[in-house]
Amino acid sequence: MDIPRIFNITESAHRIHNPFTPEKLAALGAALRLEPGTRVLDLGSGSGEMLCTWAHDFGIIGTGIDMSQLFSEQAKRRAEELNVADRVEFIHDDAAGYVADEKVGVAACLGATWIGGGVAGTIQLLAKSLRTGGLILIGEPYWLKLPPTEEVAKGCQASSIADFLLLPELLASFADLEYDVVEMVLADQNGWDRYEAAKWLTMRRWLEANPADDFAKEVRAQLTSEPGRYAAYTREYLGWGVFALMAR
Ligand code: SAH
Repeated sequence: MDIPRIFNITESAHRIHNPFTPEKLAALGAALRLEPGTRVLDLGSGSGEMLCTWAHDFGIIGTGIDMSQLFSEQAKRRAEELNVADRVEFIHDDAAGYVADEKVGVAACLGATWIGGGVAGTIQLLAKSLRTGGLILIGEPYWLKLPPTEEVAKGCQASSIADFLLLPELLASFADLEYDVVEMVLADQNGWDRYEAAKWLTMRRWLEANPADDFAKEVRAQLTSEPGRYAAYTREYLGWGVFALMAR
């Protein structure tokens, strides 16, 4: 079981697979006022940077589920590197339908809300693992400004304008689900650059190491088109943030 290979190639050198910088991730942890010993569940935990750094900095206990074999292995290595392997566990699996045996204080899904079939479904899924009064974290894109055409939305790698909301609408959508938004940390353009531009050097190096690979043509095409596409579309139109929610 694994995710499409292209992501395991383009994001193989990423520690954070979203537009957050290490500083933003730390700011989010601090903003949540995490108590040592808090259990945190992370669906689509990627290379484990959130759980590992929060275990290191705030003493949380974490479980992460991710479908990428490579990212799951990187998460385990990161836990050892930060000396928190006894506090965090990483499971290589499909997180769809995953419910924790023991209830958690924080249930998160950052940049992977398709796991629950969208934001609302993911909130419902996370709520099944959450203790009363706990926090749900959703990391999700939103439109900085509405794309003028469907073509522009596609340029942002959305399937249509309807995929995302403007920030006020996204916040209102949480209220519609009977959740209070109790904290929020937003990515900025620098964070987007770190997430997107880091893929380009990774692709270039991968191409040099794997010239005869079946995938080389696709990776070459992406390396050629991505900087321009990103600068014209995603960088101009797409925001990203993590929203902390508590049931009303
Ligand atoms: N939350 C992490 C990763 C975000 S990228 C971070 O912010 O760094 C999206 C992640 O979802 C990838 O790591 C991918 O491997 C994972 N993923 C995709 N589909 C999944 C599924 N069905 N179950 C678990 N993980 C999944």
